[in-house]
Amino acid sequence: MKKAVFPGSFDPLTLGHTDIIDRALPLFDEIILAIGTNSSKKYMFSLQERLHFLKETYKNESKIKVDTYSGLTIDYCKSQDAAFILRGLRNAQDLEFEKSIGQTNYKMSGIDSDFLLSSSGKAHISSTVVRDVMQHNGNYEFMVPDVVKKK
Ligand code: ADP
Repeated sequence: MKKAVFPGSFDPLTLGHTDIIDRALPLFDEIILAIGTNSSKKYMFSLQERLHFLKETYKNESKIKVDTYSGLTIDYCKSQDAAFILRGLRNAQDLEFEKSIGQTNYKMSGIDSDFLLSSSGKAHISSTVVRDVMQHNGNYEFMVPDVVKKK
């Protein structure tokens, strides 16, 4: 069984995330959307809200599971018997950042990272930009799934 973990903060879930998740679905038997919890990090949306965004969006998708974890992503993957970490790449900065993490993870655990490129027209979307636009009452709706629009 080909199982992947898609780790992230999802603060909030965006159409950039769903683009990667939707396109990864045919590649795996199961994808765990795993919210990494970091007590020293400030989030705009509570853990409950972020869980709701993921669960509601994928409630009809049997291959998707939603969970939270703390600690190293590779330790969480081992606990779930997942052999792959799924990540999205928007640009060269993402690639450089992900390269060192992916290589370190592989060296430490043998768990490989699989990368999908953003679809054309989705690379500009990030949770950071969405939060910024939300805070200044701008139109963010074209960057998020329906469940986040209702917030
Ligand atoms: P993190 O804080 O771990 O980067 P995020 O929630 O910001 O968590 O992102 C989770 C994953 O989604 C990362 O692999 C990130 O590169 C990817 N991602 C986010 N937005 C996009 C996008 N617009 N296109 C492709 N991948 C994306």
